[in-house]
Amino acid sequence: MITKESIDNLKNHLEIVDVVSQSLELKKSGANFKACCPFHGEDTPSFVVSPAKQIYHCFGCGAGGDSIKFVMEYEKLTYPEALEKLASMYNVTLNYDETNSKPKLDLKVLETINQYYQKLFTNNTIAKDYIKSRGISEFSIEKFEIGYAPKSIDTINYLKNNFLNLADAKDLGVIDSGQNGLYSRFIERITFPIYGLNSKIVGFGGRTITGHNAKYVNSPQTKLFNKSKLLYGYNLAKENIYKKNRIIVTEGYLDVIMLHQAGFNTAVATLGTALTKDHLPILRRGEPKVIVAYDGDNAGLNAAFKASVMLSQSEFEGGVIIFEEGKDPADMVKDGQIQKLNEIFSNPTPFINYAIDYIISKYEINDPMQKQKALHESNEYLKSLSLLYQDEYKRYIAQKLSIRENLVKVTNDKSRVKFDNSSTKIDIAELCIIKAILEKPSRLDLVLDLIDASMFEYHNNEFQMLLDDITNPSLNSIVLNERLEDYDDKRLENELLILLIKFYSKQLNKVLYEKDIDFRKKANLIRKLKDNISQLKKGKLVSFDIDLLK
Ligand code: ZN
Repeated sequence: MITKESIDNLKNHLEIVDVVSQSLELKKSGANFKACCPFHGEDTPSFVVSPAKQIYHCFGCGAGGDSIKFVMEYEKLTYPEALEKLASMYNVTLNYDETNSKPKLDLKVLETINQYYQKLFTNNTIAKDYIKSRGISEFSIEKFEIGYAPKSIDTINYLKNNFLNLADAKDLGVIDSGQNGLYSRFIERITFPIYGLNSKIVGFGGRTITGHNAKYVNSPQTKLFNKSKLLYGYNLAKENIYKKNRIIVTEGYLDVIMLHQAGFNTAVATLGTALTKDHLPILRRGEPKVIVAYDGDNAGLNAAFKASVMLSQSEFEGGVIIFEEGKDPADMVKDGQIQKLNEIFSNPTPFINYAIDYIISKYEINDPMQKQKALHESNEYLKSLSLLYQDEYKRYIAQKLSIRENLVKVTNDKSRVKFDNSSTKIDIAELCIIKAILEKPSRLDLVLDLIDASMFEYHNNEFQMLLDDITNPSLNSIVLNERLEDYDDKRLENELLILLIKFYSKQLNKVLYEKDIDFRKKANLIRKLKDNISQLKKGKLVSFDIDLLK
């Protein structure tokens, strides 16, 4: 069991925006952040994260909670598993009760083995010669912690001799077991340690120098290592990305290292995969301009197209750079073409232009039939973009195909889901009052004396909920609803007056037309109600009287 003290300590380290943004792309929206909800399908964001309240809430499906709940739901983890995951993310130590404590994965294995590989590199001439031949400097070797993984048996012996936990080493993807026992995952390869968002090492990339079939390999998927979510070099580029508002996404380790060496220190690389939706949350961090820099071969062009479609649909700013004639950025740095690189990086082809150009380039547009197909395909792509872009790029497609602009169709039926898509009627004034109390629970004292849940015409349920338990998560939808104004004390008082006048006037009407009531009782009620209304109209809040409620 994890001790309560260490859970509380962990909670103090959690930042909900940070936690959620490791999995979702969050966009700033007023005081909060928004995203499309990961728990139900939707196109219009109704998932809200509040840094002030440290909670999230979906207005579409009602999912909600704190950082721990999010990790549990999103990663499908149990409570203790979510705590352990967050603890490792935030570098917080969890303490366990003596009873049935479970040994924790020792992450030190990765750090230790990384140091071992680095040490071996300095003594290995073949590895060093290869790295030097690529133009990589001593400084970069240290900065990127380039290492060398020896023969399998050497790694296994090193782990054993240093009493490192072999089961952990296996879970962390350093070694594995086969028919002949344990073997190392990285054998006679130059190693590039890969860091996660928490700047802790999570795995390796390895390049063979002994002519092994697979030129590059990565760590296998582990608890910590998910290659479709990681970017090589991000740990070293992060600060510069925030500063320069730019991130350069390349295809390889060497590109990253060489670009950093030449001062392009916002370069990162995907780990042998294309950019995927899973990368978007990292790319969104700091809202940088994204520059996709790929090789000019068919695979590179196609990957750049797919990235352009995805990034433009997600409304990322930036564009594409293609390195022609097999010259990758690493070669250009090696050849000293820094000035040229500078120019290239300053002029990327915007994503939408690149995507449209790519589509049209597939067709022989002098042939009317082919032109028709090119129009159809670029039109379909255009329709997947925001209305503003559709309008902007209609002209571009028309020009490219030399056709009339009105032949390019845009859509105007983008069905915008309303923010409050519940069918129940809502009353803004009532909700504002509830929100004001939730914002400052000390106001409950004042309010308790004046109103009863039954005075709320539409939201008596919510008010009752508030009275029962002010921390009820179902109330988060009110706290986070940006359409509701934030009342100060004075405004709250005014709104309460209005609500009460409305309520007592309605009661007065009811009583006046009520037949089954004793005459004296009726007269008494009417007098009380009229008196209340007149007091309220003078701006005086009156305590409620149980007799006046029915
Ligand atoms: Zn939802």
